[in-house]
Amino acid sequence: MNDKKKCLECGLELMGRVDKKFCSDGCRNAYHNKFDSGSKNLIRNINNRLRRNYKILDSFNLRDGKTRTTKTRLLDKNFDFDYLTNLYTTKKGTTYYFVYDLGYLPLENDYYMIVKRE
Ligand SMILES: [Zn+2]
Repeated sequence: MNDKKKCLECGLELMGRVDKKFCSDGCRNAYHNKFDSGSKNLIRNINNRLRRNYKILDSFNLRDGKTRTTKTRLLDKNFDFDYLTNLYTTKKGTTYYFVYDLGYLPLENDYYMIVKRE
C-alpha cells in the first residue's frame, strides 16, 4: 500500500487503526492547540477591524442621527468596507450596512449617508 496514513502533526507513518490521525496524544494536542490559536487569531483580527470601523463611523458628528460623507473620506480613515455586522433592508429595498448600531448607506457619486440606529 502506497497511501500509508501519516500523523497530521509530525508526519510519522501511522500503524494500527485506520481511523487514527495522530501518532500520539502529544501530537494530537499540539495539532489542536495550533488550530485553536489560529481561529482565535482570526476572530481577534476580525474583531479589531470591526472595532476600527465602528470608531471611524463614530468619529462623524451626526445631526438627527445621520450625516453625509464621501467614500474618499472613509477610505482616508482606513474604513474597511468588507467588515460589517449586519444588513438592514427597508421595505423600499434600500440596504443599510451596519457595524453594530452605526451604519452607512451608499448614495450617488461616492457619497455615503452615515446613520445611527435608534
Ligand atoms: Zn505525530
